[in-house]
Amino acid sequence: MYRKGDRTMIAELVFVGTEILLGNIVNTNGAFLAEKCAELGLSCYYQTVVGDNEERMKETLKQAISRSDIVIVCGGLGPTPDDLTKEVAAQVMGMELQEDLHTKERIEEYFRNSQWKEIPDSNWKQALVPKGALVLDNSNGTAPGLVLEEKKKSMILLPGPPNEMIPLFMEQVIPYLGKKQPEVIYSKMVKLAGIGESQVAERIQDLIEKQTNPTLATYAKTGEVHLRITAKAKNKKAAKKLLKPIVKELKARFGNAIYTTKENITLEDAVVKLLRKRKWKVTTAESCTGGLLAGRLINAAGASKVIQQGYITYSNKAKRNLLGVEKITLEQYTAVSDQVVYEMAEGGAKAANADVCIAITGLAGPDGGSEAIPVGTVYIGCCLHGAVKVEQYQFKGNRQKIRDYAVVRALNLLRLCILEESE
Ligand code: ATP
Repeated sequence: MYRKGDRTMIAELVFVGTEILLGNIVNTNGAFLAEKCAELGLSCYYQTVVGDNEERMKETLKQAISRSDIVIVCGGLGPTPDDLTKEVAAQVMGMELQEDLHTKERIEEYFRNSQWKEIPDSNWKQALVPKGALVLDNSNGTAPGLVLEEKKKSMILLPGPPNEMIPLFMEQVIPYLGKKQPEVIYSKMVKLAGIGESQVAERIQDLIEKQTNPTLATYAKTGEVHLRITAKAKNKKAAKKLLKPIVKELKARFGNAIYTTKENITLEDAVVKLLRKRKWKVTTAESCTGGLLAGRLINAAGASKVIQQGYITYSNKAKRNLLGVEKITLEQYTAVSDQVVYEMAEGGAKAANADVCIAITGLAGPDGGSEAIPVGTVYIGCCLHGAVKVEQYQFKGNRQKIRDYAVVRALNLLRLCILEESE
């Protein structure tokens, strides 16, 4: 049994729904909640998916609450007869269901504001709440979230649709869990690009080995590595103080490979920010990525200030007509070559009258590879104020993966070229 100050709380996740069990829907709530629990410093040892079956759900919830302090149960709170989560959870926690006037009024209000004016009879089932449960209002649906407490243990029931579950979790469950935790948990994300996970792990092995508080965890993303540093302390200020020297140390070790220390900043956000600061215009010249790079740049808020156009030049003819790549270069070196990407980058910058052009040409496969140019060969060129830098990469994976890696590497090359010119 958990007592304040004893140890970290143990959380367990249960996902209800036959459609998850059969693979008809992907358990994205699982990834979201698991990551959030880790961020909150909760130890999470088990995740279970169970179908809409009363007996098996009862067994699952009984076992979960017997071995964990917090059980988060997601899904099966809807109005239909196969939505059984609340009924089963109430049984397991030894609580009776009773009508909750507040929830009833919220259901009426939800329907008044929706396109369906009539309230289906089945929805009244959602106004039944286990006696003594804490009700978490759901602004995006009719099923409220519920917290069932018994002997310092909590079972938290959340609706399945992510657009209902995520705001409920962020706005109401996090503060609830915060009150149960003896200390505050605060974390910071350090995001790196252009460096592999194993390289990062090797260079922080000593920090990982001696970690207690703060802790350091690595997450591999496509072409990126994210490091989460988590500290526990009596308040946020003290936790931030613990994080500071680690962030400083990581900056000293990785330098420009770090593109941000902010949770919500993406690589494209960081690149667009650098360009905006300098009032530079960028353009893209893409072959195998077919517009993905321009799409990523335009994901970033404020992109309109730095990008006016991009070029998708998949054929040799388009490379010649739109970017002015020489016919002889294409014939002599082929479209997947450093010479061609050089001319694509230079030609793109000229055609768009941009400060910088980032160009990609490569072989994403699955066909067309040779010994000289195997599938996964990608050339990326960056022409900044006339100076061209070309990099060659050999990516592994399927067609989509190779194209995704190429885009991340291109964004990173662009970022590094901007930083280098400014130094
Ligand atoms: P509703 O009130 O909509 O019936 P519910 O709490 O009963 O909500 P479910 O019926 O279990 O939730 O799921 C409704 C929908 O929510 C699913 O069809 C699916 O689209 C989404 N969903 C449920 N569980 C998950 C999950 N673990 N990950 C991602 N999406 C999910």
